[in-house]
Amino acid sequence: MTNDILLSPHFKLREFIASRTAEEHGIDNTPPDEAVENLRRLCEGCLEPLREALGLPVVVTSGFRTKALNSLLAHSSERSQHMLGQAADLYIGHTENTESTEKASRRELLIKAFREVLTNPKIDFDQIILYPTFIHVSFVSRERNRRGILLAQGNGKLGYGRLSLSSALQIV
Ligand SMILES: [Zn+2]
Repeated sequence: MTNDILLSPHFKLREFIASRTAEEHGIDNTPPDEAVENLRRLCEGCLEPLREALGLPVVVTSGFRTKALNSLLAHSSERSQHMLGQAADLYIGHTENTESTEKASRRELLIKAFREVLTNPKIDFDQIILYPTFIHVSFVSRERNRRGILLAQGNGKLGYGRLSLSSALQIV
């Protein structure tokens, strides 16, 4: 299996495996086949339709994590869905030809993506967490997704607040 395989039209497996922390610690972050299948579901059911709706790059900063890698990361849960290939942390980038005057701030794009995930009928999710500078989103299966919405307080250091759909849509 090569890391160049496409999980969906805009997402390569390598984007979900790359980790500076893993490299620095000599950790082999290769996912088992089962996790690759979960990453594919995450792409097809959530990330790809999000990419399509926004027309902007969805940049994955952390996808799959082996148990060894996960335990090295501050504030990561022992039961993190990243270890199953069911979650990704992401932000929204600009296309190369975006004029500088048209460039929305990272926060504006993050809120736009957050709303899109919550309201687009083509997108499903198990849990979404809005952080100040990124979004964590997970996907299990259409049948088992819980559609939980959380707001990270103090970047997660102060815990997480549960949001209703209507209150989540009021965040600016
Ligand atoms: Zn995450």
